[in-house]
Amino acid sequence: MFRPALAALFLFATPLQAEVPRIAVDIAPVYGLVEQVLGDLGRPDLVIRPGALPHDFALRPSQAAVLEQADLVIWVGPGLTPWLEDSLETLAGDADQLRLLEVEGTRLLEMREGANFAGHEDAAEHEGEGEGEPDSGSINPHAWLDPENARIWLLAIADALADADPRNARTYLDNAEAAANDLGALVAEVDAQLAPVRDARFVVLHDAYHYFEDRFGLQAIGAIADGEATPPGAARIMELLEGMADGDVACLFYEPQSDINLAYAVLETGLPTASLDPLGMSLLPEPDFYTALIRDMADTALDCLSES
Ligand SMILES: [Zn+2]
Repeated sequence: MFRPALAALFLFATPLQAEVPRIAVDIAPVYGLVEQVLGDLGRPDLVIRPGALPHDFALRPSQAAVLEQADLVIWVGPGLTPWLEDSLETLAGDADQLRLLEVEGTRLLEMREGANFAGHEDAAEHEGEGEGEPDSGSINPHAWLDPENARIWLLAIADALADADPRNARTYLDNAEAAANDLGALVAEVDAQLAPVRDARFVVLHDAYHYFEDRFGLQAIGAIADGEATPPGAARIMELLEGMADGDVACLFYEPQSDINLAYAVLETGLPTASLDPLGMSLLPEPDFYTALIRDMADTALDCLSES
């Protein structure tokens, strides 16, 4: 016997949480944003654990399982993790995807090339899905380090979650709007905090911070390596040292994940160094992880750039 009233009762007696889709995310900063949108309704599954190098990564069986179980995959995009595109096709072919670099309105910057970023002082800007397709090979994929991109992504994440789980749509949108407002305040705060070191010159390990620099008016003068897993050759080191010979370099930033930090030793500059962590590997358990990541980077940058 069909009893619609009882069926309806069961439907609404089911906790909303049971309906929340399984979400896989690529890196910890994206985990932090998705977690804020989910609020109390659940937690995403993180594929690339803090401490691993996203550009250069081998999927373990447990991480493959996360992708297989996902209803929705939220990731930066193949520009950051080219290997993930094939894995998604094989393991998560039925899952929906949100590629954050392709979200409309995302501010995209180019990868600066050469040890001294020569000729890329005013790198061309692109808008996500704007007129004409920018050459994806030249796009700097570390776009999460601009909190204004993160604000736009929060709303895109809420939309994607609402599509997958319409009953909680209102909650996702409310959570995203609250988090986006907090980020607006954070940008103003960090902008004021970093004002005293705006003219400081510094060198980075690889071009991971372009978005952070650009948002807060800082500018690296060069990078020791092309990528976080690509040790520099002698010619590049020479070129970098020549660029630094103009003097007044306040700080060298290295990355906790990278094996090529040792390459800094060959510079033998005696300059202050600091670990500037674009992925927040030591911060992940913190609530409001994304905000903690930006604050941690700002504090580290201010400390080291103020030293000389
Ligand atoms: Zn990188």
